[in-house]
Amino acid sequence: MTSEPRIPLVRLNDGADLPQLGLGVWQVDAGVAERVVSQALETGYRHIDTAAIYGNEAEVGRAIAASGIPREELFITTKLWNTEHERAKALAAFDASLERLGLDYVDLYLIHWPVPSENRYVEVWHALEEIKASGRARSIGVSNFLIPHLERLLAETSTVPAVNQIELHPTFIQQEARDFHAAHGIVTEAWGPLGQGKYDLGDLPAIAEAAAAHGKTPAQVVIRWHLQHGIVVFPKTVNADRMRENIDVFDFELSEAEMAAIDALDRGNRQGRDPATT
Ligand code: NAD
Repeated sequence: MTSEPRIPLVRLNDGADLPQLGLGVWQVDAGVAERVVSQALETGYRHIDTAAIYGNEAEVGRAIAASGIPREELFITTKLWNTEHERAKALAAFDASLERLGLDYVDLYLIHWPVPSENRYVEVWHALEEIKASGRARSIGVSNFLIPHLERLLAETSTVPAVNQIELHPTFIQQEARDFHAAHGIVTEAWGPLGQGKYDLGDLPAIAEAAAAHGKTPAQVVIRWHLQHGIVVFPKTVNADRMRENIDVFDFELSEAEMAAIDALDRGNRQGRDPATT
């Protein structure tokens, strides 16, 4: 690729713009994370999704510092881990993340899981509101929140989450959650957008046929399917070729029939933890 791909921006409910395609760094070992993020930034990625629990914020931060890319061109997300569901702990955990990242602010700070067993996510959301008010997180949102959890935030607080980051891939399309988000101005972010490699995308005829029709790989078809649905996506890879492949999705368009055929692959196939009990 000779020119940098133009990644569309998604406008959040607080007015900030989020690059719709980024790189996720879950299970990217600290030993390789700086190299991986540096490569991604060189390839044209500007949005990095990390979390305190991923153990690589410091390496992500080093790659950002070394890149020389103006801070305002980058969009950096990190997340509050489940052991910090209390106001003071959340504020301290945020400070520690910012310190490890070596940044003055993050673009997006998320509550990683609702942890309903502790029932403190409303208190924690108020802590994130404080952080946003301080300017050190430009936007705040949640992850793995089910509709009843979102309903409580909407009823009991005055800030609508900018995003909800949820498991979402062709066999788990989360239509009900996406409809709820859209009705309340919450942007849907997909985690595990490629199914985490737990099933072979190319084995699914709707994906294989679209890939053959467009001369693209199954992964590129699935990334394109997310993008055309308005979903924010950050597939994870540590491989430079796949990094280029995953961002090379702006020169083709899936037809309505192809989109519908992929939608029809849904079988409620949750792979990760159930937020109701996590
Ligand atoms: P993913 O769907 O992005 O799948 C990653 C797997 O797909 C990797 O094993 C990789 O080898 C493979 N892959 C990547 N590009 C490919 C390509 N072009 N062709 C074939 N295989 C390819 O799964 P993920 O990493 O779990 O999700 C992406 C990101 O979402 C994470 O890195 C993380 O940032 C975020 N995430 C968030 C949560 C949460 O609870 N909020 C949970 C999991 C992941």
